Amino acid sequence: MIGDGMGLAQVSLLFTYRSKEQVFRSFPVVGFQKTQSADNLVTDSAAGATAIATGVKTTNHSIALDARGQVLKTLLEEASEKGLSTGMVVTSSIVHATPAAFVAHSTTRYHYEQIAEYFPKSSVDFFIGGGKKYFNRREKDDRNLIYELKKNGFAVYDYFHSNLYNIHPSAAKRFAFFTADNQPLPAMQQREYLPYASELAVDFLKKRSGKGFFLMVEGSQIDWACHSNQAEMLKYEILDFEKAVAAVLRLATEDGETLVIVTADHTTGGLGLNQGDAGDKVKPAFTTNGHTASMVPVFAYGPGAELFRGVYENTEIYHKIRQCFGFE
Ligand code: MG
Ligand code: ZN
Repeated sequence: MIGDGMGLAQVSLLFTYRSKEQVFRSFPVVGFQKTQSADNLVTDSAAGATAIATGVKTTNHSIALDARGQVLKTLLEEASEKGLSTGMVVTSSIVHATPAAFVAHSTTRYHYEQIAEYFPKSSVDFFIGGGKKYFNRREKDDRNLIYELKKNGFAVYDYFHSNLYNIHPSAAKRFAFFTADNQPLPAMQQREYLPYASELAVDFLKKRSGKGFFLMVEGSQIDWACHSNQAEMLKYEILDFEKAVAAVLRLATEDGETLVIVTADHTTGGLGLNQGDAGDKVKPAFTTNGHTASMVPVFAYGPGAELFRGVYENTEIYHKIRQCFGFE
């Protein structure tokens, strides 16, 4: 699970101070990852997500390509090949850098319509996120990728015609739900699907394959709140993400065989906690509108969690997950 742009060190403090659920205290293992990309001390989400998805450091803006432009096989692609079910749930558009790095390959993260073309032919079984317009109201061509998704075995729904809470997806088909035409609303404006969608995903993916599953969940707008230095927006995004983590953690506790990893692709905003007390009042302050090179905590729970202890490069997360799956 990726809290995009989360200064998790600080955020976990916020959790500890402010959260009633104190979800992050239930993770027995904490590590730290270094996030610099192939060409910059400060990574962007494309290179950060590519490192986690493929185990290779690449240049900023690259989506699952190495620094020379060679295609890299992603964890999600490999998991599918090995018979596992795979899914993604995000609060950005589904073609945004983080989810894109698990299913698409592009020299630039901003070619959203080109990234969308990967979804019908990808092996992903389940996805929920925004960005419908990149599939069916395209500027670059007249392709209808919604139709192509359906032709490739997807049941496709969207926020405009259906209520996610009323759909009971059959694991016999692949499943796609669009939560917005472009970017979903911020949590401050009543967006609230991430926890429910994450549970729905786990339930679906378990039924879809008996061999196991790989699911990437992203609290995408934590990063955006930090870019705009909006502490109040950040609080809503973090609480939303925390609920999703709590939901998945509960399912993992029940089945005893699911590894849950919570981390970020980088930090954003250089959040510091100034003043305040140990009870409820903390005063956050930002040092930048951009990303930072600070190390990012990795929280792990479940079988194999102990592998995530220590200090390592972001690319190691890929190798550790493959080890846990028995891929290497
Ligand atoms: Mg992201
Ligand atoms: Zn960012």
